Amino acid sequence: MCVIRTENLCKTYRGGTHALRGLDLEVRAGEVFGFLGPNGAGKSTTIQLLLNFIRPTKGTASLFGRPTTHSRTRQRLGYLPESVNLHAYYSGQGLLEFYSGLAGVERADRRRRSEELLGRVGLLDAAGQKISQYSKGMLQRLGLAQALINDPELLILDEPTSNLDPVARRDFRDILLELKAAGTTIFICSHILSEVESVCDRVAILQQGELKRAGTLEELSGAAGATVTVKQLPAGAIEALSATEARLTLRGGESTIACDSEAVHQDVERLLEEWGVEVERVETRMQSLEEIFFGAIDRESTS
Ligand code: ADP
Repeated sequence: MCVIRTENLCKTYRGGTHALRGLDLEVRAGEVFGFLGPNGAGKSTTIQLLLNFIRPTKGTASLFGRPTTHSRTRQRLGYLPESVNLHAYYSGQGLLEFYSGLAGVERADRRRRSEELLGRVGLLDAAGQKISQYSKGMLQRLGLAQALINDPELLILDEPTSNLDPVARRDFRDILLELKAAGTTIFICSHILSEVESVCDRVAILQQGELKRAGTLEELSGAAGATVTVKQLPAGAIEALSATEARLTLRGGESTIACDSEAVHQDVERLLEEWGVEVERVETRMQSLEEIFFGAIDRESTS
């Protein structure tokens, strides 16, 4: 089942900025989907269209198979904006009880529901503390708890960890992994590529309103060099290999040739063939998300 689908989604703002130029996107139930792109790519515009805060110029967007304008879809999603703005005079518990009421939780269940959520995001110890005394990491976790109040099937997160330190970031990632294990579909915009790499099943890379790439990391990742192991290397081959950018480690029985790029790897393979060297094994290195990202975007046109 498709939880999010956009077809030819276009948004041109007043003043003429083409923020989205025909976006086709599909996010399936239960997957964690990373939505990436440099500043100005159109990520926030996409989120606002999905949440029906703004209307598209052209094209369609649907959630759970229904247009985003459908009133019931809101009940099935949770949203954590980039900057969480919570009423500082509440305690964490008080705030969640307040939002539970707005989400339609029965009065008698509100305390239990908010305690359950505080426990889930690791804030039970600070339940009675004023929000004004919360650290940034605590605020972000409380924001997440608030986004989870209606037990959403889809969670939309806009740069959820950009303000967090590495410890808070890791805690946040662990909560996302728990939600993923429980079957929540998560749509996450983030600039922190290593984080996206560690939680996302699929990613899409957007630039200037156009989808550059979309798929699993395995699908998007090309070879990025290799380590070639050989048994015998004749002196002439050693000399020829030393003239390349490959790093040669000569050992008694085996030698390894480390190639940091696919171009160097191809050079090495060619030389080994020329010298008739038998290759023992090749361990290919796949591209990281950072390499995929920089390969996908045109840096000249990045604002
Ligand atoms: P991202 O979230 O990827 O940084 P945005 O969706 O915020 O990108 O912006 C995409 C483009 O649309 C940018 O060029 C931005 O300046 C422009 N834009 C965003 N919001 C508005 C708006 N309300 N009015 C006019 N232009 C906007």
